[in-house]
Amino acid sequence: MIIVLKPKVAKKDEAAVLKEIKRLGYRPHIMRGVAHTVIGAIGDERTHRTLEVLASWPQVESVMPVQKRHKLVSREAHPTDSTINVAGLLIGGKKFQVMAGPCSVESEKQLLITAHAVKRAGATLLRGGAFKPRTSPYEFQGLGQKGLKLLAKARKETGLPIITELLSEQHAGLVAEYADILQIGTRNAQNFQLLIAAAKTGRPVLLKRGLSMKIEEWLLAGEYILANENPNLMFCERGVRTFETYTRNTLDLSTIPIIKKESHCPIVIDPSQGAGRADLVVAMCKGAVAMGADALLIEVHPNPAEAWSDGAQQMTLEGFARLMDELKPFIGAAGRE
Ligand code: PEP
Ligand code: MN
Repeated sequence: MIIVLKPKVAKKDEAAVLKEIKRLGYRPHIMRGVAHTVIGAIGDERTHRTLEVLASWPQVESVMPVQKRHKLVSREAHPTDSTINVAGLLIGGKKFQVMAGPCSVESEKQLLITAHAVKRAGATLLRGGAFKPRTSPYEFQGLGQKGLKLLAKARKETGLPIITELLSEQHAGLVAEYADILQIGTRNAQNFQLLIAAAKTGRPVLLKRGLSMKIEEWLLAGEYILANENPNLMFCERGVRTFETYTRNTLDLSTIPIIKKESHCPIVIDPSQGAGRADLVVAMCKGAVAMGADALLIEVHPNPAEAWSDGAQQMTLEGFARLMDELKPFIGAAGRE
């Protein structure tokens, strides 16, 4: 930690700061400048109590951490890219993965038609929500366990591994029984007890970015997964809330190089929630692939106009097949297969 004192601090006030730094187990190193005295507190911030409290002392101007607060998700902890093995598929490796399927599982027919179509088009995982986080309590809340059973049936027929949302701690065991990847939604991205429960199932976790989450907060939420002995974490950017109303959210593609720089964990882009409009999905996907994303999460529905959730942003089966064709040269140009 670096502690900057206010200008012209009395000797006794400086001594009090030094005493507190030592009391908390750090070794102070004093640097006297023209206007300010700066103290470097030497010690491991992970094993000592934080010195951030000093920021509230009247003689202290600011306190700055030197070490990053996210440890296990950081590149420093693991310099090479992590790959996650999901039922034999690698996420984060050379192969580019596409997770596609409906926003919500609605019926056996709807799910199976979609699953076979996305598989034919080249998707490698099947998405579908059985527990849905809806803004209004009067909207369709998902089929629950019945939806999970349908997902299992679709996996059996197509061989596609399943990604589905875990909405509540109470369902962690149940959802983990069916899912190959647990999705933590934007509304729960900082539900820390849920993150711990998800980690403890041992299933790979896809952590969406919270609606108004700063990247550091997102990394720290991811830290909860790794700190609970689950190394299989992927981040998923799905747009954040801004002043813009043209799109549902503002898809922040800058998170791709930022997460790649800060973390070894794979980054997935969800252009469907990101734009909220099916007509923008193709362009967003091309951008995401070119920028180095490891996978896409895309909503596809046999009849988006009659979807029970997120109709405006779901692609048709034909639209998705065209997208997969159009993406091929981009995937190759990005050095992926
Ligand atoms: C979804 O994937 O359908 C979903 C609800 O996602 P998010 O949590 O990003 O809104
Ligand atoms: Mn959705």
